[in-house]
Amino acid sequence: MNWLQRAKKVIPTGSQTYSKSHYYFTKPFFATQGLGGILVSDEEVGTGQNREYHDFSMGLGSVILGYKSKQWWLDLDFPNGVNFSCPHLLEVKFAEKLLGLFPHHDMVKFFKNGSDATEIAVRLARAYTGRDLAIVGSYHGFHDWYVASTDRNRGIPLDNQMLVSQFNGIEEFKNLMDDDIACVIVEPTIKNVKEISQLTKDYGALLIFDEVMTGFRYDVSGLQRLLDIEPDITCLGKCMANGLPLSAVLGKREVMQLMDDGNVFASSTFGGETLSLAAALKTIETLEKEGAILWGIGARWWNGMEKLIKDKGLEDIMKLEGYAPRCGVTFENVEYQSLYQQELLKRRVLTHGINNYCLDHTNAQIDYFLEQADEVLDIIKKAKKQGSVNGLLEKTIQTMFRR
Ligand code: PMP
Repeated sequence: MNWLQRAKKVIPTGSQTYSKSHYYFTKPFFATQGLGGILVSDEEVGTGQNREYHDFSMGLGSVILGYKSKQWWLDLDFPNGVNFSCPHLLEVKFAEKLLGLFPHHDMVKFFKNGSDATEIAVRLARAYTGRDLAIVGSYHGFHDWYVASTDRNRGIPLDNQMLVSQFNGIEEFKNLMDDDIACVIVEPTIKNVKEISQLTKDYGALLIFDEVMTGFRYDVSGLQRLLDIEPDITCLGKCMANGLPLSAVLGKREVMQLMDDGNVFASSTFGGETLSLAAALKTIETLEKEGAILWGIGARWWNGMEKLIKDKGLEDIMKLEGYAPRCGVTFENVEYQSLYQQELLKRRVLTHGINNYCLDHTNAQIDYFLEQADEVLDIIKKAKKQGSVNGLLEKTIQTMFRR
């Protein structure tokens, strides 16, 4: 039995995260460890066949410094014991640190997942505005309030579906906006973000920036600083602790205080767990010094890929997206996307399309990626010419939601 067969027998989807599962890979495999920007995998159980991949997913964006040695974790400044019977000093220190980076917010509360953070953000907005409806821009986690808006909403009471709407494009957004909207929650990478932010405020709804993915990658003060937009609430997570689980909700005092004396309940056993807080302090200190390097790494990839796409005449079926520290390609259809992933995996490059760079990625890795992409884009060009991926694609990946 290989790892996938073993995993599927004991774990639904064989994975804890849809995007890591066999549905989202043309060739599933299991990790054994990481080295800098490289993921080491075990291909077959018991055979000891390891294979190294140049990793451009980096734990779905949860790792930003690089996979660190055991010593790096041991050297973190964390106490004996990791979770205590009363708040720990590190909670206060890290709260002060974060609020220094996001000065228009006054208070912060810690959680473990991005999903926790977005859920509490929406709950706060509903309580603060006294309205129920939420408008969402993209993926914001797996909790009821959000999943109600998707096509994978079994097990969620029907009423929830009436309370949340997704939009696609600025016109749909404008049609949805009304005086009964509690909040608009979007990633700041969304198109027309300035107009959306302004309209949200005009309607008296709270603007929530889901910076779970974007926070820290572009700037230690989030993409919001680069865009010069001040949301009412910010959600952070993913790479904040370089792979350890930590998320945060930040907001103005009058909103956040509702979790104290306003009957908005948010309480978690592990929110103040100190190993993650120590890792986050170290991660952010490092990014403050070296984070700009990610812009150089991403730009090297972007420039190389832009030229390849143009030279091969593929602009109509694949597009560059993102800002340098988190950029990649999106495709006209999932078959082309699958072919891109399949052929890169064969050449030991791991990506879902959009790349998450880390400080340990080297120029040599980027150049290797581009050399391999040169061949891979030729295969995609062939598919485009013959009008289908027939004979080229071995397996089509399944995206999480149809919409
Ligand atoms: N918001 C965004 C923008 C995300 O990308 C994700 C995870 N991919 C989440 C929220 C949910 O985070 P988590 O998986 O840590 O619960």
